[in-house]
Amino acid sequence: MRVGGASDVGRVRTINEDAFWFDDRLLIVADGMGGHVAGEVAAAVALETVKEAIGSLRLQPGAPVQELVRSAVREANRRVFERARRDGLDGMGTTLTMAVVVDRVAYVGHVGDSRAYHIQKERMVQITEDHSVVAELVKTGGISAAEAHTHPYRNLLTRALGTTPDVVADLYSVSLDPGEGLLLCTDGLTAVLTDEEIYRVLEQCRDPDACARRLVDLANARGGPDNITAVVALVEES
Ligand code: MG
Repeated sequence: MRVGGASDVGRVRTINEDAFWFDDRLLIVADGMGGHVAGEVAAAVALETVKEAIGSLRLQPGAPVQELVRSAVREANRRVFERARRDGLDGMGTTLTMAVVVDRVAYVGHVGDSRAYHIQKERMVQITEDHSVVAELVKTGGISAAEAHTHPYRNLLTRALGTTPDVVADLYSVSLDPGEGLLLCTDGLTAVLTDEEIYRVLEQCRDPDACARRLVDLANARGGPDNITAVVALVEES
């Protein structure tokens, strides 16, 4: 599997509170919040914790990966929460979306409104469900997906990392066929590009780094109202 990523402050914000990390089997994105340096700290602590918990493990087929993902997210939550309390940083928190790929199965852990997508041969499928007020309104039919982009509550999360002593991550597992892939991204990408527009870039993708960069550039071309981050993984054609 080949992986690449890109992140940019965008065209409106002055600091980038998004963070990402990847190696050849672990992908992580985080979108920090809380103002001043709090968002950056929250995202960095979350990334470090997950890297520490999973980065060094030798994962064989049959390993309890989902359980490891669950506890990594939980530990990340605990550390961000503790740090916020210690430093008196009210409102500090972050999203966290991660995937571990073992034996061509992606194990996804998720809290917040960053997303994981399964890139398939003919289309792209959203794996995660946003933990946001507007996502719930869309689900219950209160507003349309298009209205969600401009809704006044679009930045309100219903679940975040580090804002409560404990958190429950949503867990998913997805089989990746040869030629398929994953996209992990923050809302700075999905707020300004439709899934179709994102897929149009990814379906021609051969180089994950170049594709991630291209997605970030497109979001900036749409005004870049938020920090933008994309991590792309591609499973080689057999
Ligand atoms: Mg954001």
